[in-house]
Amino acid sequence: MTHTAQLTGKTALVTGSNSGIGLGIARALAGCGANVILNSFTDRDEDHALAAGIAQDAGVEARYIQADLSVGADARRLVEQAGQVDILVNNAGIQHVAPIDEFPVERWDTIIAIMLNSVFHTTAAALPGMRAAGWGRIINMSSAHGLTASPFKSAYVSAKHGVVGMTKVVALETAQEPITANAICPGYVMTPLVEAQIPDTMKQYGLDRETAIRDVILARQPSKQFASIEQVAGIAAFLCSDAAEQVTGTTLSVDGGWTAL
Ligand code: NAD
Repeated sequence: MTHTAQLTGKTALVTGSNSGIGLGIARALAGCGANVILNSFTDRDEDHALAAGIAQDAGVEARYIQADLSVGADARRLVEQAGQVDILVNNAGIQHVAPIDEFPVERWDTIIAIMLNSVFHTTAAALPGMRAAGWGRIINMSSAHGLTASPFKSAYVSAKHGVVGMTKVVALETAQEPITANAICPGYVMTPLVEAQIPDTMKQYGLDRETAIRDVILARQPSKQFASIEQVAGIAAFLCSDAAEQVTGTTLSVDGGWTAL
């Protein structure tokens, strides 16, 4: 039994992985020996260069496949083009903040399409290959907002709760097979996007950096520390290890105590 995942010969598809947490997970799984497929909706040289960089650093095969996950057919094409997918990480996500009676319908539809519908499509498309191979790991990126709510985030909270529900269903449908499905629920993670919000928050509340982080951004995170991309990626790698074989249908919080409140 290994506590560290040995993933040589396995292929991981990580959606929404040209930045942030997804890129960190792709790097961590490549570090365990997995071949990786990166994805986002863009098709720029730098997207493909990220894959080439991982291939060089980790000595694995890495590819980038463009697919817009707001479109169901594209989500299914992504899995088809990926070929054998042993590890599916559904990570792509966006946010929009507005009161429900002012929430733009188009934003609602897009958030649900990217963050909930695409998880259905990629999972449905990848499962037959996992069954044929006799091994599979499905890791869905939910959030502390998959377990609790905040005002003005109706679409995000609904999608993330939905992902937790879908994770449980997939786990039950695969319970007697060597396939697991779990959701990771991070609180605030220090990503470039979060880092970019700090100056605005300081300005808006007239606070220094430390106070803006502690009292505003991390108001609900009892540890008063961000989780790191590497810590979230480490949980994903753990879920691929032998030690996690009986961990299925559950949520793993990486939230500094947020959901213990
Ligand atoms: P990010 O913006 O760096 O990453 C989001 C990824 O999704 C990017 O690669 C982006 O290109 C991709 N994406 C967006 N729309 C897409 C589309 N239509 N098709 C394909 N890809 C698309 O943000 P992140 O913080 O790394 O977020 C990654 C995941 O983690 C998201 O699901 C997010 O909800 C979740 N999460 C983040 C935090 C946090 O504090 N950063 C906390 C909890 C959960």
